[in-house]
Amino acid sequence: MLLWCQTGTLYKGLLTLVLALIALEYLFGSFIETRRWDNMFPYSNTTRVQFPEKPGFQHHPLVKALIGINSNSATNNSSGTPLTTSRNYNFNNNLTTVEIVSSNITSSNLSNTTYFENFDEIVDTNRSNTTGIPLCPDIPPNLRGRLEIVKSPVPAVLDLENRFTWLKPGGHWYPETCKVIKKVAIIVPFRCRGEHLLIFLQHMHPLLKKQQLDYTIFVVEQDGSGPFNRAMLMNIGFTEALKLNNFDCFIFHDVDLLPEDDRNLYTCPEQPRHMSVAVNIFNYKLPYPGIFGGVSAISREHFKLLNGFSNSFWGWGGEDDDMSNRIRFHSLHISRYPISMARYTMLTHKKDKPSPNRYEILRSGQKRFSTDGLNSLKYTIKEVKQHLLYTWLLVELQPPS
Ligand code: UDP
Ligand code: MN
Repeated sequence: MLLWCQTGTLYKGLLTLVLALIALEYLFGSFIETRRWDNMFPYSNTTRVQFPEKPGFQHHPLVKALIGINSNSATNNSSGTPLTTSRNYNFNNNLTTVEIVSSNITSSNLSNTTYFENFDEIVDTNRSNTTGIPLCPDIPPNLRGRLEIVKSPVPAVLDLENRFTWLKPGGHWYPETCKVIKKVAIIVPFRCRGEHLLIFLQHMHPLLKKQQLDYTIFVVEQDGSGPFNRAMLMNIGFTEALKLNNFDCFIFHDVDLLPEDDRNLYTCPEQPRHMSVAVNIFNYKLPYPGIFGGVSAISREHFKLLNGFSNSFWGWGGEDDDMSNRIRFHSLHISRYPISMARYTMLTHKKDKPSPNRYEILRSGQKRFSTDGLNSLKYTIKEVKQHLLYTWLLVELQPPS
């Protein structure tokens, strides 16, 4: 994974070595697999449960625990240690395969019974009966303002899982003492920023919980080493998230931006909201009025109306300004929290080379608003996993023809 992620920074001499290693890989092994961030996880046991989709089904107690029907056992086993859980769905030939990965479950826990599961039942977390509980307040209580920003040490996955045992699989949570009406999906475009992701998750989960949101974090990872396409990953995140749940609100979030104030609510207001207004590296000033990059919130209905982001921006830059133009074109406007609240720290990284043709694509953007976006999105899903900390999608983008 590290080799894959850092090839750009290796000297020419080392490149030869890498090529030699890749040649060896084809002959002997599978280290190419390890390029994926996901394969760095220290999960120990993998148990595969396979069952045909049929009406009328019987849940295995363990499956019940993992899908949250019996919520206590989902986070604790008999020894009291939290389970490390991850579920992997595949849809082939009418078979739903659920792969349960857990550090504390041995295969002997699963007997050979055939389990009939209905896929909808699994993904739509069975929540307890919410009638009779009050609506959550518009402004959550206990917000304090400034948040501590912790950039080091970089936490380990297992450390975060042990701390955030209240999470439900897939990087999901909702309050149980009050009812939330709108479901929020946080979409993170991602490739080769593993350390940032861990720092981001450490910061975001407690904040989103404190804000009493019904939320799920999606990490959409671009496979391969071709030019990065942030906008396509966000379009894919939107499309795929809606297959899992009817999210009302989408927050598109760079992995390296940490909100500094808990009053900066992760919700979708009446108009699209640009959230990362004041970023430390820009001296906490808005660089230009139409900016829409970094972190932004758009409702499901508006995102559909806008036809999502353009798929045409490969490499760094342009896609966020094109979205800003789409918003104006559709007579919507960008809303923002005050600069004192919408503050962010950006984690340090090497600046990518801006794509040279971004202005040209941007200039002709309007011609393509209705044909370039959600309705022309082409990609292949290579893997989907529900880790405890987030839902992970590995995707291959189809380059332009
Ligand atoms: N990104 C990524 N890997 C990359 C390039 C970009 O994961 O190689 C994602 C990540 O979420 C990042 C966002 O795209 O925060 C924007 O890219 P970047 O941080 O390089 O942009 P900048 O901060 O320079 O605007
Ligand atoms: Mn950045």
